[in-house]
Amino acid sequence: MRTHNVAVIPGDGIGTEVIGAGKKVLEALAKKSGDFAFNFEEFDWSSQRYLDQGQYIPEGGLEKLATFDAIYFGAVGSQQVPDHISLWELRLAICQGFDQYANVRPARVLPGVNSRLQHADKIDWVIIRENSEGEYSGNGGRVHRGLPDEVATEVSIFSRKGIERIHRFAFEMAQSRPRKQLTLVTKSNAQRHGMVLWDEVFFEVAKEYPDVSIDRELVDAVTTRMVLKPDTLDVVVATNLHADILSDLAAALSGSLGIAPTANLNPERQFPSMFEPIHGSAFDIAGQGIANPVGSFWTAVMMLEHLGEQLAAERLMAAIERLTASGLQTKDLGGTATTHDVTLAICSDIESQA
Ligand code: ATP
Ligand code: MG
Repeated sequence: MRTHNVAVIPGDGIGTEVIGAGKKVLEALAKKSGDFAFNFEEFDWSSQRYLDQGQYIPEGGLEKLATFDAIYFGAVGSQQVPDHISLWELRLAICQGFDQYANVRPARVLPGVNSRLQHADKIDWVIIRENSEGEYSGNGGRVHRGLPDEVATEVSIFSRKGIERIHRFAFEMAQSRPRKQLTLVTKSNAQRHGMVLWDEVFFEVAKEYPDVSIDRELVDAVTTRMVLKPDTLDVVVATNLHADILSDLAAALSGSLGIAPTANLNPERQFPSMFEPIHGSAFDIAGQGIANPVGSFWTAVMMLEHLGEQLAAERLMAAIERLTASGLQTKDLGGTATTHDVTLAICSDIESQA
C-alpha cells in the first residue's frame, strides 16, 4: 500500500469549501483503488489566523511543510487584509520558499461547458508561467510617501539561470504533447533588457529541442490570437506577470474561473510542489455552498499525476468530463447544482467505474 502525505491548506473563503470537496473525491479514489492511501494533514493558515495571531505561517511552518509529498491549497484573500499582504505572506512564501519556479496551467473546454468564444472547442493549451522572479520579485521602493512628488519603483529581476530553467521546462512539456509546439511570449520591443534576455535564452535552449516547433509573440498580440485563432497555440511560456494575465484569460475563454487548475512545481523535487485551483477566495459567494469545485478536482488530477497515481488521475478526469457533459453544473456555468451535489455525483461516478 502506497501512502501519500499531503498537506492541506484550505485558506480563505470558498477555498475551504472546494478543498473540502476535493478531499472527499481523493478519498473516494483511494478507496476505489485499494493500492494507495492519503495521509492528509490540515493547516489553518488563513487570513483569520493572521488577524487573530499576526501570522499566516507560524514559526517553523515551512520546515514542517517541507516533509510532505505535496500541498493541496485552496485560496487566500480576505476583505480585512490587503491582498499584497495575504498573497506575499502565504502563497508566495510557499512558492518561493520551495522554489516552485514552474507554474503549469492547462486550459481546455470540458464537454458540456459553454464557452462564450467561437471555436472554443479548439482550445487545448498549457500555459507555463515563470513563478520565481521577474515582475513579482518584490524589489523596489517608495520615497516621499503621501507627498505630491511621491515616487515608487517596481524592479523586475530576470536571471539567466531562472530564464533558462523555465524555458527548458516548457520545451520538455511541449515535447511530451502531440503537437510539440511552443510559443514564446515577451514584450521585447518595448522592454529592452530583461525581455530581450528572455528571447535570447529561449533560442539558445531551442537548439536542444529540434523536434519542437517554435514561434514568438508579443504579449499584446498573443491575447488576440488566443481569442481569434485558439487552435494555433499549444504550449505557451511567459513571465510571471504576463502568464498570470494570460492564464486568467484562458480560464475565462474555456468556460469559468471555477474550473481551471494549476500546479506550482519544483521540478527537481527537492521540495514539495503545490496544487491549487486558479480562482481566489470569492467572498461574494463564500458560505453559500454554491462554489464550483471542479477546479479543485482538476487540480487533484494534476496532484495525482505528480504523485505517480496515473490510473487514479485518469479515473478522476473521466469522472469530471462525464459530470460536465451531464449538465449538472453550478451557478457560474449557468446551472443550479450545489458544491455538494457536484461532489456527490463525482464520488458516485468513481465508485461505479469499472
Ligand atoms: P482573488 O483576489 O484571489 O483574485 P477573488 O475573491 O477576486 O480572488 P476570483 O477568483 O478572482 O475571486 O473570482 C472572481 C469571481 O469569479 C468571484 O467573485 C466569483 O463570483 C467567481 N468565481 C471564482 N471562482 C469560482 C468558483 N469556484 N465557483 C463559482 N464562482 C467562482
Ligand atoms: Mg480576482
